[in-house]
Amino acid sequence: MHIMTKMKMVGLLSLALFSCHSNSTSPVNKLSNTVQSTSTQSVMSISNLRTEYKSNPLGLDTQTPRFSWVLTADERAQMQSAYQILVATSQANLDSNNGNAWDSGKVKSDETNQVVYAGSTLASQELYFWKVRVWDKANRVTEYTDAQTWKMGKLKFVDWKAEWIGHKVPYFKGDKYKDLHLPPSPFLRTEFIVNKPIKRAYISATALGLYEMRLNGERVGNDYFTPGWTDYNKRIYYQTYDVTHMLKQGDNAIGGILADGWYAGYIGYGLLVRLDKVRGYYGETPALLAQLDIEYEDGSTATIATDETWKASTGPILEADILMGETFDARKEFPAWDTAKFDDSKWTKATWKTRPGAKIEAYPGTPVEVQEEITPLAITEPSKGKYTFDLGKNFAGVVRLKVKGNKGDKIVMRFGELLNDDGTVMTENLRKARATNTYILKGTGEYEEWTPKFTYQGFQFVEASGFSEAPDVNTITGLRMNSTTPEAGNIIVEQDIDFGAETKLVEQLFKNIQTTQYANFFEVPTDCPQRDERLGWTGDAQIYARSASYVADVASFFTKWNVDLDDSQRYYGPYPNFAPFPYSRKDDHSSAWMDAGVIVPYEMYKAYGDTRMLEKAWHGMSHFMDYQADIADGTYLAPPSGKNWGDWLAIGSTTSTDFISAVYYGYDAQLMAEMAAALGKQEAAAYYSELFIKIRDAIQAEYMDDSGKLRDHNQTAYAMMIDMGLYPPAHLKSGVDYLVELVKANDNKLATGFLGVKHLLPALTHNGHQELAYTLFTRTEYPSWGFSVVNGATSIWERWNSYSKKEGFNASMNSFSHYAFGSVVQWMFAQMGGIEPITPGYKTISIKPYIDLRNNAQTLNGVHAHYNSIRGEIKTYWKREAKQLILNVTIPVNTTAHVTIPDASLAKVTEGGRSLTKVKGILSSNQLGNNVMVIVGSGSYEFRVSL
Ligand code: BGC
Repeated sequence: MHIMTKMKMVGLLSLALFSCHSNSTSPVNKLSNTVQSTSTQSVMSISNLRTEYKSNPLGLDTQTPRFSWVLTADERAQMQSAYQILVATSQANLDSNNGNAWDSGKVKSDETNQVVYAGSTLASQELYFWKVRVWDKANRVTEYTDAQTWKMGKLKFVDWKAEWIGHKVPYFKGDKYKDLHLPPSPFLRTEFIVNKPIKRAYISATALGLYEMRLNGERVGNDYFTPGWTDYNKRIYYQTYDVTHMLKQGDNAIGGILADGWYAGYIGYGLLVRLDKVRGYYGETPALLAQLDIEYEDGSTATIATDETWKASTGPILEADILMGETFDARKEFPAWDTAKFDDSKWTKATWKTRPGAKIEAYPGTPVEVQEEITPLAITEPSKGKYTFDLGKNFAGVVRLKVKGNKGDKIVMRFGELLNDDGTVMTENLRKARATNTYILKGTGEYEEWTPKFTYQGFQFVEASGFSEAPDVNTITGLRMNSTTPEAGNIIVEQDIDFGAETKLVEQLFKNIQTTQYANFFEVPTDCPQRDERLGWTGDAQIYARSASYVADVASFFTKWNVDLDDSQRYYGPYPNFAPFPYSRKDDHSSAWMDAGVIVPYEMYKAYGDTRMLEKAWHGMSHFMDYQADIADGTYLAPPSGKNWGDWLAIGSTTSTDFISAVYYGYDAQLMAEMAAALGKQEAAAYYSELFIKIRDAIQAEYMDDSGKLRDHNQTAYAMMIDMGLYPPAHLKSGVDYLVELVKANDNKLATGFLGVKHLLPALTHNGHQELAYTLFTRTEYPSWGFSVVNGATSIWERWNSYSKKEGFNASMNSFSHYAFGSVVQWMFAQMGGIEPITPGYKTISIKPYIDLRNNAQTLNGVHAHYNSIRGEIKTYWKREAKQLILNVTIPVNTTAHVTIPDASLAKVTEGGRSLTKVKGILSSNQLGNNVMVIVGSGSYEFRVSL
């Protein structure tokens, strides 16, 4: 949640007057006083205050948390000239402006992001209160913001009083390849008494497996799939929840439910390829570690922690597995088991579990939550008693069932992304993921509601059977779930392409990309959410990471996943095929996949200005670079390494794997040089810059002829070399010409796979061929992005031809929710919308839209791009009219934009109807070749060029 604190700028005098009111406990009261007394003053607002990318987080492990805020102002070219942060150990201290943990003083700085705490040592489990005020460029100061908080995690091992507990699980006797081993979920509980007024109370919990905590009959928190997926041999995350208001005087009860999850359940394709182990990759049975810490008003404390005195039982959850689904027998429910009224005398003692060796750390990411409830659009009954529910889009999550019937009625639900011709749900592409949920009714005569807890599916359609009366739209409700990554960007095209549907071409494509990103940003960036895979494939993630940052705020999400990447690095250097990496088939890594370890931290640095991610990754990245140097063995050409998936799922041409490896090695070196410089590692920066040139020269010598033609004469090879900055400058033009020639010879169609596709449109657009880029972008024939859209897609498909109305689908390896080909969304924001960072984190912004210059039915016009950057809102809008070009731009306070107005002469450009030299906020304007370059400060601008 973003807290918006709007304050009038007040002069220092009024601020001094103001502090006389410091007894007031409500900053809002202070605010209204200020507004009245200074109504003629200029306005500056501080919003979106965050600590470590989170609003009021509970449980931080770092001694140096980072703060950020966003500034807005009505007047142009507004800047922050200084800030002051106060951090206190109580609200009262903060209210009286006593930063007893840290008073930064007035720091002359225009930084609003990655501002590092520099106060006294932060105490384990302490709650801290902070606020900030800022000075604008005229040295006028704002009022302090409302108080923000964060709670430190359990920094010391001794803070944990809890012990790991679980419950005995049935022994599996079947054939592991034929029979599924799906043990019931353990329920664990204890009771305790509260007999004094409570000040604050928190539950901290984690599991080997998945857990749900319950307190006095209620679920604790809104998070699902906690504690998240890590390499449980190395680290286990815990979550902390404020439960102050869930406790009551007298008898209380606390409980936990466990499931196998990623820890002990089925993961990925182990069963499909018949690994020696098909489940239980980290351990065999789940365990819980939970602790309730109560702070009483009188200063005393109490701890209720998992131990051998807890009671355990299995109950209504007969099966619970992420891939296979959940089975719930309501006849076995024990009502009110999580309240103090329950009699647990029939339960057994919980079993004590061995303490794992892994570190226990506060969860750094953003947990999975329910994001949206979806009502079915249609229900059909393609075969007697088997109903198909259409939820309208292909998403990840679960369904809530609401049903009335007889005791023992069994509702079986299956999930799929498409329908067969006969209207039944297509499930073949799920491979070994059973993805089946079953609910057995208790049959009370009332409606019964059930939502599974420990499984999820990727689907648009639900097949449900077993009803004793015909279902309706209230029977099933879709719950869309994903890791909470707030929406960051939007693209709207006024003159979009009509393909005879309710939506238009770009509108639907963008929606499909959003939907697919959300469906797969599910604890880790999964390849797909439906079949027996759902793994954090590194190649897909490195291709898409920057795209993801335009669609949603993924800073926290990738903060967590970068740790997974680091933990999964092979001891000999490469990053593996997916992270976390529970198992390997034959080869555990691949060129262009292993490079995610360098590329993903780099992309996050560019999007959010986050150098801490780089610091953390540096050791592993350097080790990986050394590995590549070793296999290159003095040639500067890193040979293919590991499995080598190549330009995965490309159409019409194959790019050699040795070339791909060589190019990625060069690209890595270039990024390493930039990251080294950002970290102040001058020697390393020089080393990697030099290495980059040597690799570029070696690639030229090996793969390019004197005319600049590549040995791999195909779209992917040119697109990668050009866009990744590896074309030797002297040959760049001929490289671009070859690429253009290849696209034209291919009937203006793309011929790229996962790797090439990301680079194709940028390579063309940046080199004078934007019209060809728009042609490719708006095609609807196979292969193209539009092909899936006109064939009814509500998501991005794994293959260019996953399905067609004419030919149907090929179910062998075919996901309808794979974000990799959605990497075009980076181009949509960066080139079509024209929004890119010049300096990391958008402190200096490039606004350079490339206009669709073609003039035919496929031409796009009137493009709005909106991006909520870490420093605030950036908006562009361009429109080509008969006699003029319009370009509207908005950039946040405290940033500067270099705005390129294409094909314009300086004399013909106006802003708000005035010549550029007379406009407030414009810092400079110049003719640069055919373009006009205007440098602007914050605010909104309306440029027009008469044509
Ligand atoms: C996954 C991909 C992944 C690939 C490796 C597939 O099964 O779904 O997205 O990158 O394997 O080629």
